[in-house]
Amino acid sequence: MSKGIIDYEADRYCPAYKKAISADLCYDSLMCLNGSFKISSTPELSEIEDIEAARKRCAECPYSDLE
Ligand code: SF4
Repeated sequence: MSKGIIDYEADRYCPAYKKAISADLCYDSLMCLNGSFKISSTPELSEIEDIEAARKRCAECPYSDLE
């Protein structure tokens, strides 16, 4: 479970979607927003109007730091 300040398994507020999302959707979305997967592989991303702004918010989001 949670080892640090961030609980990586819990739902979290996502600054890209601007709503709470599950850890699974975060991971899929993150991999698309960071260029690892195609944006089209996560259908929920079609809800986001400005993908470039979402990419920036995702890169700055603490949950995007998987190291
Ligand atoms: S890492 Fe990206 S997809 Fe996950 S919560 Fe943060 S902004 Fe949203």
